[in-house]
Amino acid sequence: MRILITGGAGFLGSHLSERLLNEGHEVLCLDNFFTGRKRNIEHLIGNPRFELIRHDVCDPYKFEVDQIYNLACPASPPHYQFNPIKTTKTSFLGAMHALGLAKRTGARVFQASTSEVYGDPEIHPQPESYKGSVNPIGIRACYDEGKRVAETLFFDYHRENGVDIRVVRIFNTYGPRMLPDDGRVVSNFIVQALKGQDLTIYGDGTQTRSFCYVDDLIEGFVRLMNHPSCTGPVNIGNPGEFTMLELADLVLKKVGGKSKIIHLPLPGDDPKQRRPDITLAQKELGWNPTVPLSDGLDKAIAYFATIVGGK
Ligand code: NAD
Ligand code: UDP
Repeated sequence: MRILITGGAGFLGSHLSERLLNEGHEVLCLDNFFTGRKRNIEHLIGNPRFELIRHDVCDPYKFEVDQIYNLACPASPPHYQFNPIKTTKTSFLGAMHALGLAKRTGARVFQASTSEVYGDPEIHPQPESYKGSVNPIGIRACYDEGKRVAETLFFDYHRENGVDIRVVRIFNTYGPRMLPDDGRVVSNFIVQALKGQDLTIYGDGTQTRSFCYVDDLIEGFVRLMNHPSCTGPVNIGNPGEFTMLELADLVLKKVGGKSKIIHLPLPGDDPKQRRPDITLAQKELGWNPTVPLSDGLDKAIAYFATIVGGK
């Protein structure tokens, strides 16, 4: 198949590009390099089935493709809050342009949605049926509401125009090729520990997240995309739940060195807890995460050590 990946030079997009090329597909990687990097995909350049296109998804585009993965959108809070109006435009216009292309070509289209659609959840763990608790005017809203309206567009194009959609709700995912200054917690803690700096916990560190290793997530993506009928939304994430204090301790134990933990103010609207209910993914996709946090952290630490030095 010929497959378009928007945001293909980003963290997840580069792993997905690699996976699809290994399966023998042609990959069109479209990116404006806001948070993506050429070095994430430089090992793919030269492959005759790989094509790199610099383009912003807020502007329309035209290709002939069989499948579209719509991943373009900054994912880390500091990056999506850097230019929040642009983030909302990227989510909305990016979804609209991907759906328009799917409508014209008949391609199946996949949306990288997020656990952020659940906001600061009152239901725990979060099943897909939970409608969420998002502050529409807070500092995370550009991303959360952008992703929510993108889901709305996906389901309206599906109902109104018969567009063949797949929607995944991704829970915190980590691994090689996250930017060292990405700002998300796993990369922050590892890079800080490798540099011998103190680990910055926001708030008291009792908030929880569930961390999925990137290879597990990409397996879930491909299973959902190629499922004959399941539109989603489907949660994909690792249900192992950790406080930020536990994560910091684990990273410190693994990296060693002289770093300590320091506390910084908790950013606004930071969700207190998050864990996916993955019953639907297990039932529909036969999917389960296979990489425990400890093993995934070892791989991520080995990667960041090559970028920032240290152990
Ligand atoms: P990332 O920031 O590494 O990748 C996003 C990519 O999109 C980058 O390559 C960036 O340059 C590109 N991009 C951003 N705006 C663009 C625009 N206007 N036009 C073209 N390209 C643009 O983030 P990621 O972790 O790889 O996330 C990929 C997708 O998955 C995002 O849509 C994100 O919201 C979603 N997601 C990720 C996670 C996670 O934990 N990694 C969790 C939930 C959802
Ligand atoms: N966090 C932290 N220190 C950091 C970066 C993040 O304590 O250096 C916290 C953040 O406040 C949140 C959690 O870690 O409670 C996960 O943050 P991240 O930005 O990775 O993802 P998200 O909040 O979008 O789930």
